[in-house]
Amino acid sequence: MTQIRSPLPDSRGHFGSFGGSFVSETLMHALEELREAYGRWSQDEEFVRRMDEDLAHYVGRPSPVYFAARLTAAAGGAQIYLKREDLNHTGAHKINNTVGQGLLAHYMGKPRVIAETGAGQHGVASATIAARLNKSCRVYMGETDIERQAINVFRMRLLGAEVTGVSSGSATLKDALNEAMRDWVTNIDDTFYIIGTVAGPHPYPEMVRDFNAVVGREARRQMLQIQDDLPDALVACVGGGSNAMGLFHPFIEDRDVQMFGVEAAGRGLASGAHAASLCAGRPGVLHGCRTYLLDDDAGQIRHTHSISAGLDYPGVGPEHAWLKETGRAKYVSVTDDEALAAFHQLTRLEGIMPALESSHALAYGFKLAAEMRADQSVLINLSGRGDKDVETVAALEGLTL
Ligand SMILES: *Cc1c(COP(=O)(O)O)cnc(C)c1O
Repeated sequence: MTQIRSPLPDSRGHFGSFGGSFVSETLMHALEELREAYGRWSQDEEFVRRMDEDLAHYVGRPSPVYFAARLTAAAGGAQIYLKREDLNHTGAHKINNTVGQGLLAHYMGKPRVIAETGAGQHGVASATIAARLNKSCRVYMGETDIERQAINVFRMRLLGAEVTGVSSGSATLKDALNEAMRDWVTNIDDTFYIIGTVAGPHPYPEMVRDFNAVVGREARRQMLQIQDDLPDALVACVGGGSNAMGLFHPFIEDRDVQMFGVEAAGRGLASGAHAASLCAGRPGVLHGCRTYLLDDDAGQIRHTHSISAGLDYPGVGPEHAWLKETGRAKYVSVTDDEALAAFHQLTRLEGIMPALESSHALAYGFKLAAEMRADQSVLINLSGRGDKDVETVAALEGLTL
């Protein structure tokens, strides 16, 4: 884990006018402790070595960059490459971050970890690392999500985690996040809160980005090896934004590399049933930081919708808000139907079943490649595998398993 000395965020967690930490006095104290510990251990030789070892032998890194020949032929434009985060242990990029935060909890001497989860993917990744490091683990999950994601709930329990249902608000991810924050405030001494994406108060957006930046560091090296040049464009889906930030970060100074973040347009931006915070939202404060979010005229957080539970979040990491404002990255959106079509397309053309989240990146990457020249290249982050989504896809198409 070679640290990239990034100028942002500043010492108080600001990315321009975004980020920061809008939390209670008690939480301020916990965040300060975390900030100091992260600053110290991320520079510690033994910590970095253990992190690298875990990424290699437990997660299975480096993940390959795969040239998608048939997908490229079908698009008829730029060469399409896939960064295979779907091949990681537990099936997505999320484990990169939980390995890092789990190890940090260990070095800080915290015997208990907590996490919030929507679809259950981050909950499973957290329960996995808690089992390995022998820590007690509680995962907060909305009651609505518990019903929708029974298999992941069972997985977490098999791993020894306690899954606590949250019935407040819409009983989904944002409510689970609030409840986890409340737990943390009451149990600061023995508890480490593992946040699952680049959102939340400082230092989470920076720390989660750094733990996921291994994706971009590898991809940069791999693309140079494969084609002796960097890709012309990077494409990644954006829920909270951790897989996209992880891929983008090591390329930020490479001005010739375009970056595209793909949000969930759900049933279409005009329908209101979507989760496209950057494309259709406005700046405000959510979960302890200033960022783009989806709210109504009264300032209430709106109900979101996406075919993929992992993109179904009414906010986004503050660094993405900054990249949007500065124009360094572009943010676009893809509907449920387009993502579903891309899911089938990759499955049939390449024998790779993508997560529905990643299918959003694939749908846009394919359109983009089609408009580019054959001597150009597009690298798409395949953030996770689709096994978890088979039931959803079957249900959408009126089939039963
Ligand atoms: C959770 C998840 C996402 C969305 O989270 P980000 O923080 O935006 O990366 C994307 N893809 C997969 C496979 C996921 O599990």
